Amino acid sequence: MPKVFITRKIPEAGTEKLKKAGYEVEVNPEDRVLKKEELISFLKRGKYDAVLVLLTDKLDAEVFEAAGKQCKIFANMAVGFDNVEVAAAKKVGIMVANTPGVLTDTVAEHTFALMLAIAHRIAEGDRFSRAGKYHGWEPMLLLGADVSRKTLGILGLGRIGSRVAHHAARGFDMKVLYYDVKRNEDFEKEFSAQYRLAAEEVLREADFVSIHVPLLPSTHHLIDAKRLKMMKPTAYLINTSRGPVIDEKALAEALKKGVIKGAAIDVFENEPRIEPELLKLENVILTPHIASATQETRAKMAELAAENIILALAGQTPPNLIK
Ligand code: NAD
Repeated sequence: MPKVFITRKIPEAGTEKLKKAGYEVEVNPEDRVLKKEELISFLKRGKYDAVLVLLTDKLDAEVFEAAGKQCKIFANMAVGFDNVEVAAAKKVGIMVANTPGVLTDTVAEHTFALMLAIAHRIAEGDRFSRAGKYHGWEPMLLLGADVSRKTLGILGLGRIGSRVAHHAARGFDMKVLYYDVKRNEDFEKEFSAQYRLAAEEVLREADFVSIHVPLLPSTHHLIDAKRLKMMKPTAYLINTSRGPVIDEKALAEALKKGVIKGAAIDVFENEPRIEPELLKLENVILTPHIASATQETRAKMAELAAENIILALAGQTPPNLIK
């Protein structure tokens, strides 16, 4: 019976799918991230045919070697795969897969929730109310900014970025600008969106900038002190992509000095650490990497990761093989 290891408890839909396919499934008994040595020791002992991993697992050549020759696939339960050294897996003949698509709506919703929340000062207002500071309606209390009919700049118009742009154009009559390494003219026609040749142009023009690029060497610190200064002082920055895309210290500095108006971020440069300067600021919203965290979506992600494993072990190409 083929054996599958899951590095941490996931929604039952995924575990059940693997069991129904006739595999012996072993799950890390502790509900925490395994240290690299611990993961290696599980892999060496278990001789698994497949491993279901999470974005908190850092997977390099040593890990893939420890998995052994019988291991066919590492299925990442995430769309981003910056935690995986794909070339190292390929070198020892292990396939790597991810879970694109099933989380697009949820992450786009979370992005919009962050955008509305920072503009309307929702988290700040909640803290204010709980602190007993509310003494009645005031004409100048916690004034925020409208989202409707403003300009949204998208960096990375892929699955999630284009869904965010859809909500902006259709729901809030926003003007949409975008920068991507690939231009999408059909999208431009459908949503009256405008392409810009460089990220800088988007930063200069947008009232809200939302980041949806993968973490790559080319997107590391895509937003740094210099680029933050290009943004309008009234602009807001939203990030639900990956933390290292923003220089977090530079962001804290920019928010403190009023270089930009506010930011709302779901991901951090050195997770789970959050830049302490950010924690002191009112004009930033910080969510703990939960943009895809709905019951429905996490179940779908677990199922899709399981499906990638099932097809790989059946000798087929998994639907979401990373090439
Ligand atoms: P996608 O591949 O569909 O879209 C990424 C887009 O970025 C593509 O259009 C690509 O051409 C573009 N791109 C690549 N390099 C670029 C560059 N240097 N400059 C500009 N554009 C560039 O991916 P997706 O499904 O939309 O997901 C996007 C990212 O969101 C993932 O890679 C992941 O890191 C992140 N994500 C985060 C969460 C979360 O929980 N916060 C959840 C899901 C995804």
